Amino acid sequence: MKHNFYKGTVKKMLSIGLVAMFTVTAFAGCAKSNADTKNPTIAPTQSASSEDAEIAYSAGTYSATVTGMHEMTVTVTVSDTAITDIQIDHKETPGVGEPAIKSISAEIIEIQGLAVDAVSGATLTSNAIIEGVTECLKQAGLSESEINLLLTVKKITEQAEDQELTADVLVIGAGGAGMAAAVTANQAGKTVIVIEKASKMGGNTILSGGALNAVDEGSETAIANKDSVENHYNQTFEGGDKKGDSVLVHTLVDNAWPGVEWLKSLGMEFFDGVFTVTGGMWPRAHKPVEPEGTGFFKTYQNYIDNHTGITMVYNTTAKEFIMEDGVVTGVVCTGETGNTVTAKATNGIILATGGFGRNVEMRMKYNEISKKWPTLDETIPSTNTSGITGDGIIMAEAIGANLVQMENIQLLPLGDPETGSLSGNIEHAVESRIFINLEGNRFVNEGGRRDDMTLALFEQPETKMYIVMDSDTYQKGNEINNFGESIADLVSAGRALKAETLEELAGLMNVPADNLIASVEEYNRYCKGGDLEGQTDKFGRTLFTDTDGVNNGINNGPYYAAIRVPTVHHTMGGVQINEQAQIIDTNGNVITGLFAAGEVTGGIHGTNRLGGNALTDTVVFGRIAGTNAAAFER
Ligand code: ADP
Repeated sequence: MKHNFYKGTVKKMLSIGLVAMFTVTAFAGCAKSNADTKNPTIAPTQSASSEDAEIAYSAGTYSATVTGMHEMTVTVTVSDTAITDIQIDHKETPGVGEPAIKSISAEIIEIQGLAVDAVSGATLTSNAIIEGVTECLKQAGLSESEINLLLTVKKITEQAEDQELTADVLVIGAGGAGMAAAVTANQAGKTVIVIEKASKMGGNTILSGGALNAVDEGSETAIANKDSVENHYNQTFEGGDKKGDSVLVHTLVDNAWPGVEWLKSLGMEFFDGVFTVTGGMWPRAHKPVEPEGTGFFKTYQNYIDNHTGITMVYNTTAKEFIMEDGVVTGVVCTGETGNTVTAKATNGIILATGGFGRNVEMRMKYNEISKKWPTLDETIPSTNTSGITGDGIIMAEAIGANLVQMENIQLLPLGDPETGSLSGNIEHAVESRIFINLEGNRFVNEGGRRDDMTLALFEQPETKMYIVMDSDTYQKGNEINNFGESIADLVSAGRALKAETLEELAGLMNVPADNLIASVEEYNRYCKGGDLEGQTDKFGRTLFTDTDGVNNGINNGPYYAAIRVPTVHHTMGGVQINEQAQIIDTNGNVITGLFAAGEVTGGIHGTNRLGGNALTDTVVFGRIAGTNAAAFER
């Protein structure tokens, strides 16, 4: 019943930490009874080495229910001596939570310990798995002390050799922009290396709702919605208070639909029609069939799997550029084991490291310039994944890149109160939902700009609001939201509220029922069939009718609500580029050999980015950067 749980080759991979101070012993004499009573003993000893560490499980299969993004059941099988299997029954999002489930479970079994790092972008899921396994191990007889011991056992890998890598084109960052650039450069016949800090591709892009703005000029849909590329341009430019670079805005909107066609040519699927995403101002967002941003990365991965020439280098963080004779030729990175990885390109290099939403110091520093937000300190959560810390902006600035409009930081009023993430957001389209404060009242035009909506939310009691809608969107009660979550699951996990009547809903929301009912009735007057249909309401809202023309108000129970808070979403400032995606230096000259795309760039969106334009940005400028980096010759 005893087990030396760090042995042989596995032992070499383990960092023992505190373990060296202790021997875990199911004492010979009482091992059996300990196992029987599920209460093994730990005896500390100063002299024991890790070799002596022993642990005993009561062999069997144990289950625990925990909550990641959703409820999940963790089932662990142990022999007398080891964790042999972990099965997880879950509804986490494919492409986001699912990879974490696989890698965390595999690592726990590999190291026979619990000090496993959360997978970036899937912290809740990762932590829930560790919690679930811990609970199962307790059921298998481990005491708190033994659990604490396992919580010190982590994987270490010996530092690998320093590495030198070369390709035609180098891409830094495997988010939306980086992967669009990598595929494009490869389509131009180039070998590509993609350096990525995290253990998987996706960045913030994979966590988005997937909405991509593009106008198929002259199409039936565009005509029906009275939309045009020019309208997209005007709304983007004016939506950013005319502070965006008009040339770049034209580049964005003109190339948006060709970008969608390119994605389709790679096999990506979109639903028919368009919708209005929050802050998108108009129905022109295309919705991928796959949830969140996963469809983009399935598509890019599929391309990589079926073509030669793109090498993904994960867990590797770019640190500084290499300049030779005034040309950027490579980047020095830190590899997974702390080794140095030097990557060089014979053609161009593309910077696609995203923004700085998770760099609290940077966002506070730049918010000081605009003073737009009451605070952007650590009390304000972010939708961003943890690696979005402005690395590329800092690296580019160090070689003279001009940073523009760094003070333009976008918040959304749609964050999960626990995590700041967009998950758990029940809305589907702007037209069919309202925002209600804790007094039961509407307070803003919910079809307006993202900054206006979020600033208004900061003025509300407790800086919290509910999204409220009826069952028109969730007619069966088990449909999924834009983040791949079923409304039924959100309700059962307490992340969304459901009630047959508005009065009952108000009770669940803990807001005055009279106010909620009056707010809804007033809103309904502007919807299809209402006495004020077609008019603008007192908040300036004009978007009441959805593209199918069916929204006749919030009047069809059951009703749904979900609580939301302000959350840092997108940083519109960054490195200045021209329409060729070349980076511009502080003297107005091009930095030779270096291109940039996506959120790392600045000055396209102005003070406020339209919802649905970020994914367009990644595809449009990613493709331009990929094409030009491939064509660049020293
Ligand atoms: P965009 O929307 O502009 O493509 P994303 O947030 O989707 O931005 O992707 C940016 C990617 O860049 C993320 O996957 C992030 O982990 C990666 N990244 C950030 N900093 C570094 C760095 N120093 N080295 C390598 N990759 C980085």
